Amino acid sequence: MTVAPSRSLRSSAELIRAEEPVLAHNYHPLPVVVARAEGAWVEDVEGRRYLDMLAGYSALNFGHRHPALIEAAHRQLDQLTLTSRAFHNDRLAGFAESLARLTGLDMVLPMNTGAEAVESAIKVARKWAYDVKGVPADRATVVVAADNFHGRTTTIVSFSTDESARAGFGPFTPGFRVVPYNDLAALEAAIDETTAAVLIEPIQGEAGVVIPDDGYLRGVRELTRRTGCLFIADEIQSGLGRTGRTLAVEHEGVVPDMVLLGKALGGGIVPVSAVVARREVLQVLRPGEHGSTFGGNPLAAAVGSAVVELLETGEFQRRAEEAGVVLRDGLAALVGKGVQGFRARGLWAGVDIDPAIGTGREISESLMREGILVKDTHGSTIRLAPPLTITNEELRTALGTLETVLRTA
Ligand SMILES: *Cc1c(COP(=O)(O)O)cnc(C)c1O
Repeated sequence: MTVAPSRSLRSSAELIRAEEPVLAHNYHPLPVVVARAEGAWVEDVEGRRYLDMLAGYSALNFGHRHPALIEAAHRQLDQLTLTSRAFHNDRLAGFAESLARLTGLDMVLPMNTGAEAVESAIKVARKWAYDVKGVPADRATVVVAADNFHGRTTTIVSFSTDESARAGFGPFTPGFRVVPYNDLAALEAAIDETTAAVLIEPIQGEAGVVIPDDGYLRGVRELTRRTGCLFIADEIQSGLGRTGRTLAVEHEGVVPDMVLLGKALGGGIVPVSAVVARREVLQVLRPGEHGSTFGGNPLAAAVGSAVVELLETGEFQRRAEEAGVVLRDGLAALVGKGVQGFRARGLWAGVDIDPAIGTGREISESLMREGILVKDTHGSTIRLAPPLTITNEELRTALGTLETVLRTA
C-alpha cells in the first residue's frame, strides 16, 4: 500500500524554531526534521533523504516500519488496544511464552520503557535478597559499573558516574556500589553478604560501545554464582540482534539470572520493555507489589510477539554478523585517516574521531549534510548502529561518505 505523503505546513527551519519556546531543552538534536521513513531511510520535511545509521539507538533494529511489524500493529489496533492488568488480555500469554523461549529464561515481567525495566529489576533483586538470600531489611546492595547507562530515573541516576546526568538531581537513592567496568577483581572486592545483584551492560553503549575483554562476562557469571548474588544483564541496547546474536551475553555462552530488554522490543512502534528472569527470581513478586498501567498491553504484546517472531528466524542476527564484517573492514581502512580507533561488534560501532579533525558533533553535522545520520557521544566518539536490514551497498555508501567527510574536514 502506498500513501500520498502528508505535507508539512512549515519548513524544517520554522519547525526547529517553533520548538525552542515550548519544548524542554533536555536534548540537542541534529538540525534535521524527519517527516517520513521506510527501512534504513528517512526523509525530511523538504523531501531530502538520509540513511539512518543510528536507528533510534537500536529501537529500530528492524528498520523503519517493517511490514510484518506494521501489519501486526494494524491488526491489533482493529481488535483491542488496552485493558490494564486488572483483566487478562488474549495477547499476553503468547508474548511471554515466546520471549521466554527466545531468551532461554522462564518468566517475563512486561513494562514499557527501558528505565522501567531497570527499576523493576532492582526492586526484584532487593526483594529476592530479603526473601530468599536473607539479607537484613533495607541493607541490600547492588553493584554496578562506572560509565554505565541504565536510564534517567532518580534511582538510576543515583548510580551514574556521568556528572551531567546527576548534578542537580539529588538526594540520591542509597544501596549502590560502583566499580570499574571490565575489572573482575574490583567486582569481587565489592561483593559481600549484602549484595543482591551485579547489574551491568554486556557492552556499554552510551559509553561509546565499550566491549569488555573476552572472559569478563563469564567471570561475572561465575563470581555471582559463587558468591550467591544475581547477575542482571542490561541488554536494552545490546540485545535483540544488534551484535550478531539474540543477546550479547551469548558471545560468551552466558545465561544471566535476569535480562533486561527494551528499545527494539517495541519494533520502533510502541515502547515495550521487559524483565526476563529465572522463575526462582521473578516469582518473589506477589499481587500488588509492583505494576504498570500500560505494561503488557495488547498492542505492545502483539508488536512484541511479532518482534520475537522475526528474531526466531535467526535472519537478523545473521545479517548483523555478516554486515558487521563490512562495517569493521570499512572502519579499519579509516584508521589513521581521521579515525583514531574503533570498537565494533555486529552492526554496532563506536568510532573515535581524531580530535584535530573535529568533534563528534561537527562530524555528525557534516555527515548529515551529506545524507548520513549518526550521533556523537562523549566528545570525539560517534556511534554507528544502522538498522539490521541495511544492505552491504548502503553500508558502503555510509562508509564512503564518512571517508570523504574526514578527508575534507
Ligand atoms: C536506552 C537504555 C536504557 C533506558 O531506556 P529508555 O527506554 O530510554 O528508558 C537503559 N539501559 C540501556 C543499556 C539503554 O541503552
